[in-house]
Amino acid sequence: MKNFKEKFSSLKNVSIVKAISILILLIFIVLLVINQQNIQFYFNNFGQVFGSDLQVYFLDVGQASATFVVLPNDFSILIDTGTAESGEGLVRDLDFLLSKNNLNDIDMMILTHPDSDHTGGVVAVLEKFQVNSVLRPKVCVPEEENYFPYLVSNTYTYLKAIEAIYAEPNCQMNFVENQVFVESDKNFESQTTIEIFAAEKDNYGSDTNSFSPYISLSYAGKTFLFTGDAPQARETELMNRLANENRSLSVDFLQVAHHGSKYSTYPNFLAALSPKYAFISAGDKLHPSQNVLKRLEDALVKETYVTKSDGTIGVGVKGNGEFLICTKRGFVDVPLLVILLSLLIFVLMRFIYVSPSSQKFSAQKERKIAKEKLRGTKKA
Ligand SMILES: [Zn+2]
Repeated sequence: MKNFKEKFSSLKNVSIVKAISILILLIFIVLLVINQQNIQFYFNNFGQVFGSDLQVYFLDVGQASATFVVLPNDFSILIDTGTAESGEGLVRDLDFLLSKNNLNDIDMMILTHPDSDHTGGVVAVLEKFQVNSVLRPKVCVPEEENYFPYLVSNTYTYLKAIEAIYAEPNCQMNFVENQVFVESDKNFESQTTIEIFAAEKDNYGSDTNSFSPYISLSYAGKTFLFTGDAPQARETELMNRLANENRSLSVDFLQVAHHGSKYSTYPNFLAALSPKYAFISAGDKLHPSQNVLKRLEDALVKETYVTKSDGTIGVGVKGNGEFLICTKRGFVDVPLLVILLSLLIFVLMRFIYVSPSSQKFSAQKERKIAKEKLRGTKKA
């Protein structure tokens, strides 16, 4: 039996091989161009998150925080905006996620506190999108008490953010207070409840992290808790408040506070919330803290996701309470796979197929062919 190479070499129609090679090369070039776009995001299983009623994305913005939420009634919320450096990537991701949901505007932008790793992307976001409202805490600092006790800015980043928000003609500025929003979904099968737990004190000294509100979001029996950079003092506040109100808060999806810093997410807080899955937005060597990862493990959290290693993480919840969590970890980048396969086939075809004109004259080969042909030929 002839081997594959011989079979291939004996292909009489040279043009077919050439045409296929060129076609593969063209596919390769087209996919290479397309792959530069967001298609990579679409081809992994994030596609299933887009189809979910409630969508929550812990966006990869490095050592910073930005979370994008699309409610079942298409109301969109951006919680924090990452750093100024990650602003361009954030805008690209938001543009993609909004278009996947056929949305144009961001309905609400929540700034948990003034730090630059949460408010750095505000200017970039406002430049690109219509943001209908902003919700932020009134941050009181004692040093400025005699003049204007609320923190206008202690950083250039926050000053720019505040200025940019006030410059928007159609963006309403609201301030954090204890409040509950209830939204019915399009099918009225289940309702979405957002509860904001504001910081209880007027001031926390210079610790602006403490002004981060806790935000719980519940839909179809599943509850998320967003925490900003809230430290231990605020964890105690929340637990005391729940105890005073004789209620509990059971959390399915916990955004771990302060990028997984060891000064938040204490065992008693975890015991009170009993979270099932944890999400950490972090990007440097110090975060998340090993202590916190251990605490989460001890609290029997099923899985902890970190943007540093998982990239952007998407959680989709359906109206019946089913959910899925998607990350870039372990996913197959389909266009890249097709590119590599196309390239491999292209190279193999060129390698295997040797065109007749490129064969060198060989006396031995000529003698062999003459012998073979003689056998099958009658004397003439
Ligand atoms: Zn932070």
